[in-house]
Amino acid sequence: MPKAFITGITGQDGQHLAEFLHSKGYDVFGMVKGQNNPRMSALLEEMPFIEPVSGDLADLPSLVAALEFVQPDEIYNLGAISFVALSFTQPELTANVTGTGVLRMLEAIRMVGGTENNPMRFYQASSSEMFGKVRETPQTEQTPFHPRSPYGCAKVFGHDITVNYRESYGLYACSGILFNHEGPRRGLEFVTRKVTNAVARISLGLQHELVMGTLDAKRDWGYAGDYVKAMWMMLQQDEPSDFVIATGETHSVRDLVVRAFSEVGIDDWERYVRYDPKFMRPAEVDLLIGDPTKAREQLGWEPEVDFPTLISMMVQHDLALESAKAERARREA
Ligand code: NAP
Repeated sequence: MPKAFITGITGQDGQHLAEFLHSKGYDVFGMVKGQNNPRMSALLEEMPFIEPVSGDLADLPSLVAALEFVQPDEIYNLGAISFVALSFTQPELTANVTGTGVLRMLEAIRMVGGTENNPMRFYQASSSEMFGKVRETPQTEQTPFHPRSPYGCAKVFGHDITVNYRESYGLYACSGILFNHEGPRRGLEFVTRKVTNAVARISLGLQHELVMGTLDAKRDWGYAGDYVKAMWMMLQQDEPSDFVIATGETHSVRDLVVRAFSEVGIDDWERYVRYDPKFMRPAEVDLLIGDPTKAREQLGWEPEVDFPTLISMMVQHDLALESAKAERARREA
């Protein structure tokens, strides 16, 4: 069985990827940070097939030990401080984990390596946030970067060092420039899930308002389940390369809010939405839209879930989740 090693296993993409690779017959190893990670315990109940391995992107010896132990065929580096707002308040930690963490992973591969005929293949989770103040629309693999947050800056370093190690040392290293992708497993701090969860709670009478920053920012939003397939497809190519993964469609945060409220039958959504400048970023990314032509032509990858289906899936999930929680609380009261 091929072996896959995933950092960021407890995150949204780590969970989707673990499920996907398991269905393809892989032995799935997940790197777990900390000594008693509560998200990992919950994940192992849902996916007992994952083999946990201790390690931290801020600690090179732990990465070397993990690779020596697992001897993976494929490494997916999804671990990161991934929330843009947090990167503004913890920029040094973000640079260390999201940026230098990639360098540590690449160094660990150079040290442990795999065989010449069968090198460890490396996937780096790059981000559309690298385009930031966009230089052209839509954005492709050739579009210059202009990051607008410490997160975006750290991802640019991670991307460039991945390309550099491929060119300098011949590593099989790919970088997926993924545009926003969402789903019911998205953390509640991210705008899509914040909206779908609040809308579900408002419709159940558990919450009265949704407090937002800008509604004008535009993003290219896809479904996480589709995007992890693209990660795997990249590592099955004869030659490593970098790919933009996106839907090619853009929607404003306002579109997201309107659609989520309409899913629960609320048309006068403005009654429930309040603006608070504290949710504005110091520097905003106004318009992200990706051109996935290279992925379509070379990988045969296409997104399957469209924006309305995605938002509907997330709202329905949050409705079920929040009513079950409310029911449990009622029974325990
Ligand atoms: P996520 O849900 O925020 O998950 C982040 C993961 O990183 C968590 O498992 C977290 O583990 C782990 N992590 C944090 N600090 C770490 C450290 N020091 N060492 C090892 N692991 C650490 O992120 P996601 O949405 O799944 O995204 C996966 C990757 O794709 C990230 O690199 C993200 O930046 C990138 N990306 C995401 C999107 C998107 O729209 N989702 C778009 C482009 C790129 P704990 O649970 O232990 O904290």
